Amino acid sequence: MSEALEAAARAVPDAVVERLSRARCVLALTHENPDADTLGASLGVQRLVGAFGGSVTLVSSDPVPRLYDFLPGIDEFRSDPDPDAGYDLLVASDFGTPDRMGSVRERHAALLERLPRVMIDHHVSSQSAGPADWIDSAAAATCEMVALLAVRLGVPLTAGDGALATVLMAGIVMDTATFAHPNTTPRTLSVASALVEAGAPLSDISRRLYRSKPEAQLRLFGRVLERLESVDDGRVAWSTLLEADLVATGAEPSYSEGIIDLLAQAENAEVAILFKEADGQTRLSVRTRPEGVDAAMLTGQFGGGGHARAAGATLDLPVAQAREAVLREARRVAAQVRR
Ligand code: 5GP
Ligand code: MN
Repeated sequence: MSEALEAAARAVPDAVVERLSRARCVLALTHENPDADTLGASLGVQRLVGAFGGSVTLVSSDPVPRLYDFLPGIDEFRSDPDPDAGYDLLVASDFGTPDRMGSVRERHAALLERLPRVMIDHHVSSQSAGPADWIDSAAAATCEMVALLAVRLGVPLTAGDGALATVLMAGIVMDTATFAHPNTTPRTLSVASALVEAGAPLSDISRRLYRSKPEAQLRLFGRVLERLESVDDGRVAWSTLLEADLVATGAEPSYSEGIIDLLAQAENAEVAILFKEADGQTRLSVRTRPEGVDAAMLTGQFGGGGHARAAGATLDLPVAQAREAVLREARRVAAQVRR
């Protein structure tokens, strides 16, 4: 174990360490439309609590996309808590506002509010209020934080024959686009180095998350890229994914993951936006260039949030109206960027 990692692990709040090491029966909750970071963090927490003899129910409001089948333990996720379990702790990973829990929040409001909680999150838009809410917006991924938590708890990163290292590395690879995004720090790399040493198959994880896709997904990307538009000398670039595109290509909704990262490659784009038609509503994915527009602020105007460079929102408007409102604001803020 490197000294840098041991030092970084000292930043884990004592309240988080105490609650997790004492918990006997934990409800671990992901955010809606789960990704590798929220799933990996919850699976990691399960192993840490397990190391102290506690048990964990893994809950995700939305089904887990098949893309994540390679994560050890992934088939244990369920849509609702176990009604017979006597939970003594809620662990919320990779989100910091209650609306991100998804539909489980309506079905189990009383339980979710009653339970003492630990929140582990790296979003700038997090609303931390609880005594064991740990928000670190300098972390590239929530999984980076869970790795530090493992070190602090003294649980070896090799736990589960490489399973712990694999699930945590998946979240880090996901949220950094394999260490390419500017959220990658020396600490991220120290953590990743320790995870590789502990058995995480880095290259395989990166290939599965970023360089391997069902053909239907590639065809969906083609349709959406074909529809690319831009204004103001390319400073604002966007495209739209319609429900009809899913039907035409046989794609699942989760196949839209990754399109925004291609749109963000538009060379002059200060702001790249993907508008996704979803049941009369519109989902936004936004990416912005370093030292330019704050994506969390832009989406915050529409009830969303996220990070400075990557954020999202859901608008209760049909796609044409959502596009008009969001593009107006995006053009305004992009025009203020001086390079
Ligand atoms: P994506 O565009 O990949 O769906 O999301 C980018 C980032 O913004 C992710 O870190 C995600 O957690 C956050 N994000 C996406 N949608 C929302 C939203 O509706 N509300 C908030 N608070 N964050 C979001
Ligand atoms: Mn994350």
